[in-house]
Amino acid sequence: MNDLSSLKKIIDGHDSFILSTHVNPDADALGSELGFYFILKKLGKKVRIINHSATPYNLEFLDDEKIIEKYDESVHNDAINEAQVFVLLDLNQASRIVRMEMSLRDFKGVKVCIDHHQDTENIFDYLFGGVEYSATSEIIYDFIEATKIVEIDTRIALNLYSGIMTDTGSFRFDRTSPKIHRIITVLLEKGVNPTDVYDKIFDQFNFGRVKLLGYSLSTIELDDTKQISFMSVTREQMEKTGASEADVDGFVNYCLTIKGVKIGIFFYELNDGIKISFRSKGEIPVNKLAKEYGGGGHINASGIRLFDTKIEDVKEKIIRAAQRYL
Ligand code: 5GP
Ligand code: MN
Repeated sequence: MNDLSSLKKIIDGHDSFILSTHVNPDADALGSELGFYFILKKLGKKVRIINHSATPYNLEFLDDEKIIEKYDESVHNDAINEAQVFVLLDLNQASRIVRMEMSLRDFKGVKVCIDHHQDTENIFDYLFGGVEYSATSEIIYDFIEATKIVEIDTRIALNLYSGIMTDTGSFRFDRTSPKIHRIITVLLEKGVNPTDVYDKIFDQFNFGRVKLLGYSLSTIELDDTKQISFMSVTREQMEKTGASEADVDGFVNYCLTIKGVKIGIFFYELNDGIKISFRSKGEIPVNKLAKEYGGGGHINASGIRLFDTKIEDVKEKIIRAAQRYL
C-alpha cells in the first residue's frame, strides 16, 4: 500500500486523468469518484469519469451536473488512451469494470487503484487505501486531510458522506469507528443534510422495487442447518414489476434479519447468467466463498457473476459450499 502523500505527487506531476468504478455502482463507488473528480477539477486538471454502468436512479442526485459518462468503446477508447493517469476507485480487479477491462489492461500510463477490498489484482502501479477502511470515500477524506490538497466544499462533503453512510450500513457495520464519526462531524459542518441524503438514497424508490421486494421475500428459505437463508429474483419478476438491477441492491440484507442465520445468499437472474450476493455475520469470510467461484468482496459482503448458467443449476452447490464456512 502506498503512502497517501505519493498520491498528491502523482496528481502534481500529471495533467489528464480518467476515473472509473465498478459495474452497478453504489454510493461509495460514485461518491469517491465524484469527490476525487472535484479535487482534480479544483486543481485545474483535465479529468473525465467514464463508467461501465449507468448511474442508478436513486443516486443520480450525486451527479446533478451530469459529469459521469457511460462507457462507449467508439467514443471513449481514444480519450482513455490519451490520458496520463487511470484511477480506479472502489474496485481492485479489472473484471469489475466489465466492458472497460481491456482499456485498463492495455493502458500505457499510470494505473492507480484507490480501494478497500481484499485480494487486489496485480495490475496497478500504485495502491491507496486498504481493507481497514470502511469505504473508499473514507480514503479520499483521509487523503484530503493528510495533504490539505484542497478545501472540502459542500459538493465534496455530500459525495464522501453518501459513500461512508452507505458502506457502513448507515453507521452500524463493524468499521463504524470513533474516527468515522469524527469524519462525519466535519462533513456535516460543511453543510451536508443527513435526513435529505438518507431520504434520497433509501426512501425514494420506484413502486416496482417494493413490489419486487415482496416477491423476493416470498421466496426466502432456510437450509437444513437453519443458519443459511437464501432468496432469489427472476427475470419474470423483474418484468412484472418493471424494476431495474439497481433496485435489488440491499435485498440480501433481509436474509440476515432472521434469528440464528449467519450467512445470507441472494440469487439474481441476469439476461446472460446470474449474480449471487453473499452476506455474513461475525468472522465468516464470504469473500473466500465468493472467490471459490471467481468473485470477491469483503469478509461480510461479497458477490459473483456467473455467465451462461441458471439459478437452479448452481443453487444446491452454492448452499453446500456456504455450509463449509459455518
Ligand atoms: P453486492 O452483493 O452488494 O453487489 O456486492 C457486495 C460486495 O461484493 C461488493 O462490495 C463487491 O466488492 C463484491 N462483489 C460483488 N460482485 C462481485 C463480483 O462479481 N466480483 C468481485 N470480485 N466482487 C464482487
Ligand atoms: Mn466501497
